[in-house]
Amino acid sequence: MSQIRENLKRVLERIERRAQKAGRDPKEVKLVAVSKTVEVARIKEAIEAGVSILGENYVQEAQKKIEEIGRPVSWHFIGHLQSNKAKYAVRLFEVIHSIDSLHLAEELNRRAEQAHRVIKVLIEVNLSGETTKFGTDEEKILSMAHGIHSLKALSLEGLMTMPPYFDDPEMSRPYYIKLRELKEKIVREGIPMKELSMGMSNDFEVAIEEGATYVRVGTAIFGPRKS
Ligand SMILES: *Cc1c(COP(=O)(O)O)cnc(C)c1O
Repeated sequence: MSQIRENLKRVLERIERRAQKAGRDPKEVKLVAVSKTVEVARIKEAIEAGVSILGENYVQEAQKKIEEIGRPVSWHFIGHLQSNKAKYAVRLFEVIHSIDSLHLAEELNRRAEQAHRVIKVLIEVNLSGETTKFGTDEEKILSMAHGIHSLKALSLEGLMTMPPYFDDPEMSRPYYIKLRELKEKIVREGIPMKELSMGMSNDFEVAIEEGATYVRVGTAIFGPRKS
């Protein structure tokens, strides 16, 4: 078995086992295979092995790959998106996990309307207050959710976060609890949304216990990134 196929099998088994242990239906947890910096041949290998969602961080890099690979899979954007790339993003991606301002959402909405598409989006929340991280501050989330909810060409699906890196995955747990609580609060405010995009190679099992519906896993599938 190829390394990627073997890695993928192991990740899927871990997702299933942890979901069951947490009393959840494993089908509620969708795997986003994060393919930034991974070359096309290896991405194709992952697709043959059964990956159905790919997550990319850079618009130009993704565009080249999508031209070559096409759409046997769903392409998601998980990186920082600049407004001036919105017109490309709405044509390339089905889901954008990383909306970090209302301004960006409005620009995406305008471009999506022009392209006659509806784009699924998640709000990226910066829970750590790290200034090096993108994402919306917690206190602005509610007003942003209301703003995005009113945009016709965007469908607000949920929240995403990326905690600081910890060697010990348990350290991520408070961030994931917080994100789930924030989502519940927004739902109580009358904005329905169901997705929690949280958990990476080193801590996706903790995220699943706290309600993740998308886990974004790169290294554990493709191996360490070169850059
Ligand atoms: C790179 C990246 C991931 C995947 O990280 P791994 O540790 O390789 O699993 C997940 N989410 C985002 C936003 C990323 O940029």
